[in-house]
Amino acid sequence: MRWQAYHTPQSVDEALSLLSQYAGGAQIVAGGTDLILDMQQGNHSALQALIDVTTIRDLDQIREDNGWIVIGAAATHAAIEASPLIRHHGAALAESCSVVGGPQVRNVATIGGNVAHALPAADGTIGLLALNAEVQVCTWNGAAVECTWQPLLSIFVGPGKNRLAANQMIGAFRFPVRALRSGSAFDRIMRPQGVALPILGVAAQVTLDESGRRAVAASIAVGPAGPIPFRATESETILLGAPTLDETALERAIDAAQRQAELRTSKHRASKEYRHEMIAVLLRRVLPKAVARAQAA
Ligand SMILES: Cc1cc2nc3c(=O)[nH]c(=O)nc-3n(C[C@H](O)[C@H](O)[C@H](O)COP(=O)(O)OP(=O)(O)OC[C@H]3O[C@@H](n4cnc5c(N)ncnc54)[C@H](O)[C@@H]3O)c2cc1C
Repeated sequence: MRWQAYHTPQSVDEALSLLSQYAGGAQIVAGGTDLILDMQQGNHSALQALIDVTTIRDLDQIREDNGWIVIGAAATHAAIEASPLIRHHGAALAESCSVVGGPQVRNVATIGGNVAHALPAADGTIGLLALNAEVQVCTWNGAAVECTWQPLLSIFVGPGKNRLAANQMIGAFRFPVRALRSGSAFDRIMRPQGVALPILGVAAQVTLDESGRRAVAASIAVGPAGPIPFRATESETILLGAPTLDETALERAIDAAQRQAELRTSKHRASKEYRHEMIAVLLRRVLPKAVARAQAA
């Protein structure tokens, strides 16, 4: 038996008090598309209990709240892809969730599981990162739950490892509503028969000034390009300093991303050199698309 007990809590309080009682012997499960497969394949030790967070009321909600788009941790990739709010305010996220697995996977796999699994190439994570998303970490203090918002990158430690303790879970994510003259986009390169993770994924968001040519904000997320999801900060600085977002600025941003990215060769996906070239291919697709969306907004 890979687990002894399976709990279906109705609230975050109940889920976290259960999790704490097992003191490391239990784990949260959402869609199970990473965790259960890992257990079946022997890559994860047996557990005393699984705590299913998809039964928690409203944990799958997507809503606008006071200048933010808030996405419950148990929202599925299918729900995010179909959400008019997310398509409007965070196209990069809708696009990144729309390519995760196939329809069966997207119907059950959650954005919380995608982030908590902590892989640097996870598609939904890369989409969230380009939107400057924050993560809500909920902690059981022995009597009640306290939730705080923190930058998305703060919960990553390394490949497959997050910073959540045995009394913590992700409650939600949020990103700012789309600013005036702002647009975002995502694209990835996948092996034709590829399953699970891409060779490379890139998401970008830009906000333009009144002329519609100069960037006043820019964010670029790339994965895998290091042990944790990667922000191409040097490219962002170049875009922000460019008098206009033309071909020269784009090529300089590509050079910077290629220099800053920590690429590696993976046996099942691609060589480091191929990934280096694909940074350019994807940025040439994604940045002009984000700029065009910003100009049309
Ligand atoms: C066939 C197939 C294709 C796939 N294709 C892709 C792909 O193209 N792109 C991609 O990025 N991924 C892909 N995946 C991986 C996977 O589907 C995603 O990472 C998915 O989002 C995981 O979500 P889940 O709800 O299934 O997570 P689960 O498997 O339930 O959980 C994963 C991890 O997150 C933890 N967790 C879950 N929810 C929370 C929470 N709220 N708080 C704290 N910890 C939590 C669990 O304890 C576990 O450690 C694929 C998987 C399969 C099986």
